[in-house]
Amino acid sequence: MSKRHIGLRSADSFAAYTLGLLTHFSGIEFTLNESGELGYGRNTGATLLIPKIDRYTVDTVPKVPTDEDDQRIETAITTFPFDVFSAVRFWLCDEGHKSYSGTDFDRHQRLAYQASAQNQHAHGSIPIVNAYLSLFLKWLRCRLGTDYQRPRAAVILTHDVDQPVSPGDISHHLWRIASSTMSGNLRASLSLIRSTPNQLRKRIQTGSEQYWNFEKITELEGKYGFKSTYFFASRPRWFKGASPYDVDYDIRAKAFKRVFQHLHENGAGIGLHASYNACEDQSLFVAERARLARLSGMECIGCRHHYWHMKTPFWPTLDLHAQVGMTYDMSVAFNESPGYRLGIGIPFYPWNPKTGDVIPVMQIPTVIMDGALLYNPNQTVDSALAELDVILDNVKKYHATVAIDWHVRSSYQGNRKYEKWAKVYEGLLKRLQMEPDIDVTTPEMLCGHWRVDRSKETIDTQKAAHVLRGTDA
Ligand SMILES: [Zn+2]
Repeated sequence: MSKRHIGLRSADSFAAYTLGLLTHFSGIEFTLNESGELGYGRNTGATLLIPKIDRYTVDTVPKVPTDEDDQRIETAITTFPFDVFSAVRFWLCDEGHKSYSGTDFDRHQRLAYQASAQNQHAHGSIPIVNAYLSLFLKWLRCRLGTDYQRPRAAVILTHDVDQPVSPGDISHHLWRIASSTMSGNLRASLSLIRSTPNQLRKRIQTGSEQYWNFEKITELEGKYGFKSTYFFASRPRWFKGASPYDVDYDIRAKAFKRVFQHLHENGAGIGLHASYNACEDQSLFVAERARLARLSGMECIGCRHHYWHMKTPFWPTLDLHAQVGMTYDMSVAFNESPGYRLGIGIPFYPWNPKTGDVIPVMQIPTVIMDGALLYNPNQTVDSALAELDVILDNVKKYHATVAIDWHVRSSYQGNRKYEKWAKVYEGLLKRLQMEPDIDVTTPEMLCGHWRVDRSKETIDTQKAAHVLRGTDA
């Protein structure tokens, strides 16, 4: 590839940031340069012009470029059809949802997909920012002859560990009684002892229902040549600072020790499933991460918040990840529908619109959670796989990287309740195995790849607002 440097006549810091994204997406290097080929806004005197629009709204922001837009860009137009920088900012800075009322968010502060600008524009399956960037690159190639490469499409496999203990398994329950008695928490022990008949009844009713699927999942994924990452919570709901929404297991139990060993031996990754309240208190977050690292004996460089629960808006929570030294986060997503929550389908360092600065923690877009596809009881295995096909076709078309979140209880056909969900997961793995144009990997491997292979092109330029401003990142 003949590499090109392209200059933009502008001092706009978000434009510089977008050019950093473009470098990651294309391999082209950009600079802010008063004699550059590109002008941003009128009267720059540059050969090629990007119009300047102060701010787009949900009604005016450019739609997903069509094949006709693609053809039109090949004609000799010297002005790009829209302000690519403001359009990217509309999605990445969530500008479409600033004035939304409380009813557009659920009780866990998650934006309802139906009420979203994404629903209005991209139908959940299209990374609209990738589409803008692709059109822009095509324009540069047609006008300047600039060649470029685009990243390979990739799917990141992950599992949230929410309810891993089989409902009929009373050993975890008995362990909890012993554990609270030994730690002197007699109130908790008594309450657990009182609930024992209930647990026994559950065991009789659901004896064969298996939610503890770790070994089965690594075996299943191994069959297709894949590995994945598991997000474990380390603050159960009975711990100090926890919420009733938090998990009902404790990773200190021996069974988890064996699981961590197994995952480690099989090359799986682990991340922190941050507790419901962790977004409110840095000390909770730090303690949870340290506890997970200590009890698992594994490296923990990334996180995803339980219930996707973050502050509203979520920028301070993303900043928190940087403050505690996380490498990546996967918490910005829709809960009840597949979709690109910030319109982008590549890993990126978010831009905090409140501070006007880059958050140095890689955000990997989680686009499909099992429930998002399968909460609807009318969804069948075939219809869910058909929906996945559309998403994956677009992952290829737009050179996207997307994460999939399938819970441990529903990633293997071990119980009746999630049998359909598990069938869809295996169907997805089959499809991915037959797909030569999509890489399948874990977040840890993705981060390693970025750090090692593309460090010059990616890490530097992702912090491009600084680089292009001429200051150190
Ligand atoms: Zn969870």
